[in-house]
Amino acid sequence: MSPTGLDAAAREQFRQLLQEMKRTAADAVDARLHGDGEHRHDEAGLPLHKEETDDDAAAETQRQADVAHLARTATALHEIESALARLDEGSYGLCIDCEEAIDLRRLQAHPAALRCAACQQQFEGHRLRAGGRG
Ligand SMILES: [Zn+2]
Repeated sequence: MSPTGLDAAAREQFRQLLQEMKRTAADAVDARLHGDGEHRHDEAGLPLHKEETDDDAAAETQRQADVAHLARTATALHEIESALARLDEGSYGLCIDCEEAIDLRRLQAHPAALRCAACQQQFEGHRLRAGGRG
């Protein structure tokens, strides 16, 4: 009997889903870090005249967006890997805070969810009140 209420078929389903998500996230990180072929800046048809545009500022803005996106993807990747590890341990589907089974609909929407909806809300509330920026 599984304490999570997930049978073997459901666990296998989530495993496949998570592995697919992991591949997608890993590819995204890879593309950002190593570049996917040549890096060209003419996608938007912008002129490449440094004299005409404040190119440094635009490049900096783009770089910051890239870094933020990369950080989000890296976090997601980490969550997916934790979820896969918990699938092996048999603790997948249990809230890491209250250890109750996470609602199946929530898991289906967020297969890498660590907490039940109530604990996640509390967690995010604490984080906001702690005054963390971003
Ligand atoms: Zn909980």
